Amino acid sequence: MNEAWGDWRWQLRNAVRSLAELERAVALTDDERAGCVETAEIFRLGITPYYLSLIDKAHPFCPVRMQAIPVKAEARVRAGELRDPLGEERFRPVEAIVHKYPDRVLFLAVDSCSVYCRHCTRRRITAGGEAELSRAALKEGVEYVRTHPEVRDVLISGGDPLMLADSRLGELLAALRAIPHVEMIRIGTRVPVCLPMRVDEALAKLLRSFAPLFVVTHFNHPKEITSEARAACERLVDHGVPVENQAVLMRRVNSSARIIKELSHACLKMRVRPYYLHQMDVAEGCEHFRTPLAEGVKILEQLRGHTTGLAVPHLAVDLPGGGGKVTLQPDYVVERGEGQTVLRSYKGERYVYPEPKETDCVCPYDEVWAQRGA
Ligand SMILES: *Cc1c(COP(=O)(O)O)cnc(C)c1O
Repeated sequence: MNEAWGDWRWQLRNAVRSLAELERAVALTDDERAGCVETAEIFRLGITPYYLSLIDKAHPFCPVRMQAIPVKAEARVRAGELRDPLGEERFRPVEAIVHKYPDRVLFLAVDSCSVYCRHCTRRRITAGGEAELSRAALKEGVEYVRTHPEVRDVLISGGDPLMLADSRLGELLAALRAIPHVEMIRIGTRVPVCLPMRVDEALAKLLRSFAPLFVVTHFNHPKEITSEARAACERLVDHGVPVENQAVLMRRVNSSARIIKELSHACLKMRVRPYYLHQMDVAEGCEHFRTPLAEGVKILEQLRGHTTGLAVPHLAVDLPGGGGKVTLQPDYVVERGEGQTVLRSYKGERYVYPEPKETDCVCPYDEVWAQRGA
């Protein structure tokens, strides 16, 4: 391992970005080679040397490999697939903002990534070709937040916001932090997974200085939790930056309860809390990654009760067309009866919950509490 290996800029400069470079590193299957050719005009290829080193060169179904190297299926658009699967464009008042929920916004800060995920759902933004988000667009985004007092939570994403230099990132965070109604900030990033050396002391300190700020990262398989990735996450947490994980459930990559459980345990061991398990969106070229909705529910059923509650993520379906996220869970209610509800336990046994007689749940003190300081 050379000295430059731990330098994130070296990793980006030396990222594999073409079929020819990739062929030199991995003996590709015919499907992968064709995938690189056929997706070349559709979506960027980019794999850091670090993430490339995690690939099992001997197995085409290596989960890291499947997330980083395209296959032919990715070049095909199937029925029902959408360029904008989450219907975000109609909630995009300015270029940098997606305002879909009442009290929080998605802030698109940058259009590039350390690794281009083959399952990317915002590939219309990260595909390249669209102009880089300019300083003017970022300013306009900040201005939007400033003039919308209902926005108490800003989720910065893109692209990967941690691709920004510390100075640019610091400027954006400072501008958002200066807005009194912004209570919390989140950064959605795959850097701890694909470019963990980016998370150095300086970055961790910078992020901590804008607390409450949460980093939401994106590990999909325990194979990605290396000593480097662990060091990146632990550095953030040690500095006081909570880290959450959102995984995407992908067919043949991590579509098994055993894998998701191991992933959750590996996350918790480095103090990363599993947050969402995302049902794959209906993004163009991603059908080969999609699992039936029932599969995710089955996986949750094999986690809940069987392991630490903190290890059980929310299974989220982001509704095609723009309805937002909803969560699915196994149904433990067997029967709603008169005065009682029958439920089943995680082991499948029946239990009776007697319902109370009184049903008025208004909190009398709330009249006082909600009016305080008014
Ligand atoms: C997922 C998402 C959020 C954040 O949702 P949470 O459930 O609060 O994590 C916000 N805005 C958009 C557009 C999203 O897709």
